[in-house]
Amino acid sequence: MVQFALRRSHIVAAAAMTALVAACAHTPGQAAPPPIAAPAAETGPITYAPSGHVGMDTWRTAFSAKALAAGHDREVVKSVLAGISPLELWLGSSFQPAQTGIEDQAEFAKPIWDYLRVPMSDSRIRTGASRLAENPALFDALEAAYDVDREAIVAIWGMETSFGAVKGNFDAPNVLANMAVEGRRKSLAERELFSLMKILEQGDADRDDLIAGWAGAMGHTQFMPSTFIAYAEDFDGDGKKDIWENEADALASTANYLAHSGYTLNQPWGIEVLARTGFDFGLADGNERRIETWASAGLVPARGGAFETGGANYAELWLPAGAEGPKYLLFNNFKAFKTYNNADSYAFAVGLSGEAMGGQRGPVASWPTHLTPLTVGEIKILQAALNAQGFDAGGVDGIPGRKTKGALQAFQKSRGLVADGYPTKQALALVTADSNVGVASSPSGTN
Ligand code: CA
Repeated sequence: MVQFALRRSHIVAAAAMTALVAACAHTPGQAAPPPIAAPAAETGPITYAPSGHVGMDTWRTAFSAKALAAGHDREVVKSVLAGISPLELWLGSSFQPAQTGIEDQAEFAKPIWDYLRVPMSDSRIRTGASRLAENPALFDALEAAYDVDREAIVAIWGMETSFGAVKGNFDAPNVLANMAVEGRRKSLAERELFSLMKILEQGDADRDDLIAGWAGAMGHTQFMPSTFIAYAEDFDGDGKKDIWENEADALASTANYLAHSGYTLNQPWGIEVLARTGFDFGLADGNERRIETWASAGLVPARGGAFETGGANYAELWLPAGAEGPKYLLFNNFKAFKTYNNADSYAFAVGLSGEAMGGQRGPVASWPTHLTPLTVGEIKILQAALNAQGFDAGGVDGIPGRKTKGALQAFQKSRGLVADGYPTKQALALVTADSNVGVASSPSGTN
């Protein structure tokens, strides 16, 4: 059997056979057979039919050699790289980095209540609640196996693909090859292609399974290939880690990922709070403090009662829309959500929508929709103006990150204002009134 498999492996172009060889080769107690000389056609560089794109062909020749040098299976390398072709999305004349998410600013430019519209829509919440109700045995098993709350799992499933409705329809090797050729994310794309090769070499999936969204994320909960290698699970035990068609495998993979990201069962991701009059919003500074500290500073749970933290002792105060909007104490599980997508708004949508699918819809407080958040261009003006006045807002990048909020809070404090760090038109007007840095200094400031 071993002998047969090894002989066949030189002439059969099948990843499954490679897996069989690997399995047989590791059978205990069997001596390895003598090496068999490979036919001449199976050594040296792999030749490919032209892709129709010169840059892609050049890249493929080099990357193919790199993959072979790294020890990847020849037939796997060939099967991953043979069918690639230029995609308009990545290599066409209308390529726009913003459209492909390379700039990743969408989550920052929108007011949070706009961002939440889809994740918190009635249809999303209803579907999530049905998914939970339809298969309680699966979610019981997932919670037991991974110590991750079902609401978190189902919420991520909703966020990533609307519960499998929008998984993407690209060939994963092809989108990653296009990303590599486009160049801006070349090393990431090449690493992910190596991971795809490993997936095939391990026999975890078949070549035809490798379907992805436009950026190479795969399956029900959009795993990148390297994430698949690290965390994908075969929950139904059929030998394949089928994150594309098998919900048990896909959701177990997500739970496994969250568990390894530090998620703790039965702890909140966040607790909405109310603040007593005169509360110092400067404490929303990104620092974690003990729950007792927050309570004595004047925060109470918005839904009443005592803080129920499931044993978590520390939280930070977060004001997603400033002092006039809903306020949250954020716990460690929020950080676990951010490992999926490193945006506060994303993690917030996961937490909030999961809670709603579980039957508790938030927030209790209403959004201050009368306040006008800033555009990316206006954030840049704000950042430059804060920097010019000695409040360190960091780089002028148009992203209102923690540093920008901190600088705005320091400015607000210095003027005796409510120091919530929320960048609105009103705040911008106050900061620029004191500054020589205005619209003229920023070419994008007219938006
Ligand atoms: Ca499976």
